[in-house]
Amino acid sequence: ASPARDRLRIAIQKSGRLAEPARSLLAACGLSWRQSRDKLFCYGESLPVDLLLVRDDDIPGLIADGVCDLGIVGRNELDEQAAERRRNGMPDAYQSLRGLGFGQCRLMLAVPEEWEWRGVEQLAGLRIATSYPAILADWLERQGVDAQVVELSGSVEIAPRLGTADLICDLVSSGATLAANQLKPVETLLESEAVLAGAVREPNDMRAGLLAMLLKRVDGVLHQRD
Ligand code: ATP
Ligand code: ZN
Repeated sequence: ASPARDRLRIAIQKSGRLAEPARSLLAACGLSWRQSRDKLFCYGESLPVDLLLVRDDDIPGLIADGVCDLGIVGRNELDEQAAERRRNGMPDAYQSLRGLGFGQCRLMLAVPEEWEWRGVEQLAGLRIATSYPAILADWLERQGVDAQVVELSGSVEIAPRLGTADLICDLVSSGATLAANQLKPVETLLESEAVLAGAVREPNDMRAGLLAMLLKRVDGVLHQRD
C-alpha cells in the first residue's frame, strides 16, 4: 500500500493537444500553482493539489503505480493501456471518472482511397498499422477476423504507401491527415475524448475529501460549459 499523503497529485500532458485545455479546466476549478524551475512539477497554492507535467503515454502508468492520484488523458490512451494490461493478465488499475468534453477524436480504420469497402470480412489476412495494438487486437477478435497487427509508434498514415501495411488504424479528428495520405476512414473502433482518470482503488486518507471536492468542481465547470 502507498503511504498516506495529504496532497493530491494530477498528471497532465506537458505539451500537445490536451495540455492547455487540461490546465484551463483545472484553473476553472479554482486551482492555481507555483511553477517550479524544471517546469515538470507545479505546486498547488490555492489547494493542496499539485500537477505533474508529463507525456500523455506515461499518465496511465503513473496512476497505476500510485505516483499520481489522477490524470487527464485521452480515452484512447487509457483504453489501450488497460487493454494491454488485460491481455497480459494484469488486474485493472485505473478508471475513467469523467468525460471532459475536449480532445474529441475517433480511433478508425482507414484504407487506400481507391479500395471499395465491403466490410470487416475483407480484412482477413491483411496487415494493419497502428499505435493502438491492444485495442485493435481486441476489436479484431470481437469481429472474428484474422488480420495482422503491425505496431508503429508514429507516422502510421504513411505505412500503406511504404508498403509496411495494407491499411491503418489511427486517430482521426478532421480527416485532413487521412485525405493528405490518400486514405479514407471506413470503421470506428472507439469514440474518444479527454477523460479525468483515477485509480481503481480510491484513496482512504486526506486525499479522499480533496478528490470528492475536485470532482464536484469539475462537474460544476462542465455543467456551465454545456
Ligand atoms: P506526447 O508528447 O505527450 O506523447 P502525443 O503526440 O502523443 O504527445 P497529441 O498529439 O498531443 O499526443 O495528442 C494527445 C491526445 O489528443 C490524443 O491521445 C487524443 O486523445 C487527442 N486527439 C484529439 N484529436 C486528435 C488527432 N487528430 N490526432 C491525435 N490525437 C488527437
Ligand atoms: Zn503520446
